[in-house]
Amino acid sequence: MTETTEAQTLGFQTEVRQLLKLMIHSLYSNKEIFLRELISNASDAADKLRFEAIGSPELMGDDADLWIRIELDKEAKTIAIIDNGIGMSRDELIENLGTIARSGTAEFLGRMTGDEKKDASLIGQFGVGFYSAFIVAERVSVETRKAGSAEGARWSSDGQGEFTVEAVDLPARGTRVTLHLKADETEFAEAFRVESLIRKYSDHIDFPVTLASGGDAEDKVVNSATALWTRSRADVGDEEYREFYKHLSHDFADPLKWSHNRVEGKREYTSLLYIPSSPPFDLWNRDAPRGLKLYVQRVFIMDDAEQFLPLYLRFVKGVIDSADLPLNVSRELLQQNRDLAAIRSALTRRVLDMLKKMANEDSDGYATFWKGFGNVLKEGIVEDHGNRDRVAKLLRFASSAESGEAQDVSLADYLERTVDDQDAIYYLLAENYATASQSPHLERLRARGIEVLLLTDPIDAWVVDHLAEFEGKQLVDVARGELSLPDGDGQMTREADNEEHKALLKRIRRVLRERVESVNVSQRLVDSAACVVSGSDDLSPQIRRMLEASGQPVPESKPVLEINVGHPLVDRLSRESDDERFEALSGIVLDHALLAEGSQLDNPADYVSRMNRLLLDLDPAANREDGNAHDNA
Ligand code: ADP
Repeated sequence: MTETTEAQTLGFQTEVRQLLKLMIHSLYSNKEIFLRELISNASDAADKLRFEAIGSPELMGDDADLWIRIELDKEAKTIAIIDNGIGMSRDELIENLGTIARSGTAEFLGRMTGDEKKDASLIGQFGVGFYSAFIVAERVSVETRKAGSAEGARWSSDGQGEFTVEAVDLPARGTRVTLHLKADETEFAEAFRVESLIRKYSDHIDFPVTLASGGDAEDKVVNSATALWTRSRADVGDEEYREFYKHLSHDFADPLKWSHNRVEGKREYTSLLYIPSSPPFDLWNRDAPRGLKLYVQRVFIMDDAEQFLPLYLRFVKGVIDSADLPLNVSRELLQQNRDLAAIRSALTRRVLDMLKKMANEDSDGYATFWKGFGNVLKEGIVEDHGNRDRVAKLLRFASSAESGEAQDVSLADYLERTVDDQDAIYYLLAENYATASQSPHLERLRARGIEVLLLTDPIDAWVVDHLAEFEGKQLVDVARGELSLPDGDGQMTREADNEEHKALLKRIRRVLRERVESVNVSQRLVDSAACVVSGSDDLSPQIRRMLEASGQPVPESKPVLEINVGHPLVDRLSRESDDERFEALSGIVLDHALLAEGSQLDNPADYVSRMNRLLLDLDPAANREDGNAHDNA
């Protein structure tokens, strides 16, 4: 067809345009990473061909040795990265090098700040990739022929907004990426510079990487060409592990931690698992790619094999190389494989052990991990019954015993600080740290020196629900039901108090009956006049708000109002003889208790007008004017 042989000029998708700009700007001080990205792509292309050739050996033809080659031309100021891997069709070229398919990209790119350093790490969360070539190149051309096809295509662009694609004759399958270097980037056409970079970036790659520096210099193979995970742990340096991670993940930052293991015996496999240092931008997108890179006897089989780890460990990156799985294993076959469950549970344990070790030995590293992935790990409490205790030990919380909102208290820390006879782990759920740390519900516990964990993430309500207890101690919500404190006679004082203040409680209950289940004397409060608590079987206000927000039906339930009989406002209330004012005051006491726990008022306007009336009551001038002052006796 004529239309596919003619040169076509096409515009980059908007997101690509944005990414290109950001990449050139924010990664400039790390410009040499383009080479790692292009070598990674070449190595992936070789991997893919080796995989395709399992079922279609003719794709390999008589060119079965896969290689990568870097050609330098000082005169022409070019560096080319060449592979004899899978190649791309014309359509794939347009698709792969003209668009970004990951959802949420536009929104993510919108978060860039213009600050080089911040943006560089954000780009890292996105993954670097092919477009990094434009950091050093004023023009990039890609010539490629797909394995099994006779048609070649050339893509070419200056990275400004458009690219052209045309048909070309190419002698063999594979891809050649040529960078026409910017005038001040010609160091990347220098053999000594490029050779050291290739060593750094490609030593762990399973294919030979040859450097052809032109002139009189002979071509030479620069890397050792053994897949890194097949080497023994003792032979691999930390820097190599880090480089391999970047090759694997296209992450710009170093990994936090890794674990490399060979399992022998009934099932044989090698795994190399990494914990990244920051989450990818689409961590919360359920359809985002996740999982390990699967190899069978060193032959690449698939990316994103998500079957090997549970969803709550979706942040883990790495490789699994099995000796037992069939080479033709598909996602479906994998799902049915008898060994899968065993491997999955072993890998899960590995990751949890790695985290445990990091928590014990590297608290800064663990804090970084927790900040990025804590909320994902929490899903494990709900999802992974068998490892619940292990995951529980890895949880970290903000606490009333600490001064800041950092989540760094473990349940074990908490248990070490309990007071005599304390047999519960107290927690409070709230929308945010400010609400939690100043909540009236903490007052009595604070006064008694009892620590309360402050839970402010949306998933927390589910976590405590599923966890229920830790090392034999019940988790207790301080804003729910009756609170009996250690070594206290809560129950008895409560009944005695309720009896003593029966008349007041009844009177409040009468005026607020539409809004509260009951009214009690509080055992929780010291400084505040009142608080609301939920019944022991009711939904917590957090879950209620979340369900409401997602449009789900929420069962009716009214909170219990607890009042502090030692508070001057309650005292004032008890002496109020004017019924109308008693009702207004009671309503405000309840409104304030609801506001303090972070709830919305059902009728804010009504609150404002009641409040205004009371404020005017306090103003002698206003009283004089409307001549309607209440008797303040
Ligand atoms: P990523 O590698 O993260 O997917 P890139 O932007 O680096 O993103 O590359 C986009 C796509 O282009 C790759 O997924 C791959 O399909 C294709 N591609 C890039 N380089 C090559 C190559 N040398 N050979 C074959 N395909 C390639």
